[in-house]
Amino acid sequence: MQYIRRRKIQILPVARNSKFTQQKSLAIRNPNTGAHPISAHTLSIIVNDRVLEAVRNCNITYGVIENDDMNSPAERRNSNLQILMNYNIGNVIGAPAEQDLSLALEVHHWELLMFLENPEAFFYSKYDDPVTRPDYLKMTWTIEGVNCGTVGYSTDADGPDIYPQTAQELLEDMGVVRATVAKLLRNDQVDAYAMPTHPGHHAGPNHIGGYCYLNNAAIIAHLLIKEGKSVGIIDVDYHGGNGTYDFVDIIPGLKFVSIHAQEDYPETEMFKHGRGLPFGTTWETYSGVLKEVLDTMAELDIIIISLGFDTLSSDPLTHDIDGGGFELKPEDFYLMGQMIGETNQQILFIQEGGYDIKNIPTVCRQLLSGFESVRNLMPRSIKYPLNQYTKNIKINKFRNQ
Ligand SMILES: [Zn+2]
Repeated sequence: MQYIRRRKIQILPVARNSKFTQQKSLAIRNPNTGAHPISAHTLSIIVNDRVLEAVRNCNITYGVIENDDMNSPAERRNSNLQILMNYNIGNVIGAPAEQDLSLALEVHHWELLMFLENPEAFFYSKYDDPVTRPDYLKMTWTIEGVNCGTVGYSTDADGPDIYPQTAQELLEDMGVVRATVAKLLRNDQVDAYAMPTHPGHHAGPNHIGGYCYLNNAAIIAHLLIKEGKSVGIIDVDYHGGNGTYDFVDIIPGLKFVSIHAQEDYPETEMFKHGRGLPFGTTWETYSGVLKEVLDTMAELDIIIISLGFDTLSSDPLTHDIDGGGFELKPEDFYLMGQMIGETNQQILFIQEGGYDIKNIPTVCRQLLSGFESVRNLMPRSIKYPLNQYTKNIKINKFRNQ
């Protein structure tokens, strides 16, 4: 498997002189030990290789489609990638697309995958009689009785629409999934932010929904567990991860908790796997819940953060359309990144939702900057417990310098 790897791409002048860059250099030593950082820790940002090439060439509208829907996953992906590259956050890796969706086969229903790979061909194979055949563009697809969304380009169904380029984007997303798993397995000092085009946490084994087609987090968790890792998923999207919840009994050993709005889509009761919060929740409350959930996963090897930016106080979908919303501020995401960075686990952020497209890139940068500010201080202590590690690097040598 080959990846296009480039480091330190396209640093714009603003990044060199930015406050963030200065903060990062000031935080270069551990304030407790005075130690210089150890370079073992790295953050990988994994995205489709064609997307990477387009954004590198400043084609910020690559893959963006015009519609009247608030969901613009390609725009979110492009703008997040651009700001991370501009601020030189993480090592960006371009992953090639898969040839088919078979990577998802062990957790998703085979018929759903066939349908997603080529909806039109699948439709005509099912309805070969032109007299009784329903209207393709209005057909709402079901698999095992579960609503899977509309085949054509209509917007009047609960399921996400399927556009001509959706199948190719899902092949690209599976390429990101494969590269992410390989990266995490190769080196346990690597954290990652995976940027598939489409979110996945509302997609279950045999259904799509809520802008989601394939559950990237569940597929990755399954592949990591198969390799002997213990894995948990924490869903911090505003909307409950009902699709991921449906995998809890299917993927052996998978731990999962969703922190979400109690009374908003998809309103799924998740019992011990859910932390439903009221509209208007601020960081003060949210942070306590997140800390509690992180603590429940303290013994695991890897924590996957299903990362939604729609907890933002300016998110238009959750506030203006749904009439609810949380009240997290951009600076709260810096603190969230720090809190997650303080864990001892290998962390994978994987992109889910978020609809304040204008502000999300800044929030994304805040989150990963907070994460890196903690993570860069020292490598995780899984192999080297803190006291043993600090002894090894002779902390007194660096004190008072
Ligand atoms: Zn959401």
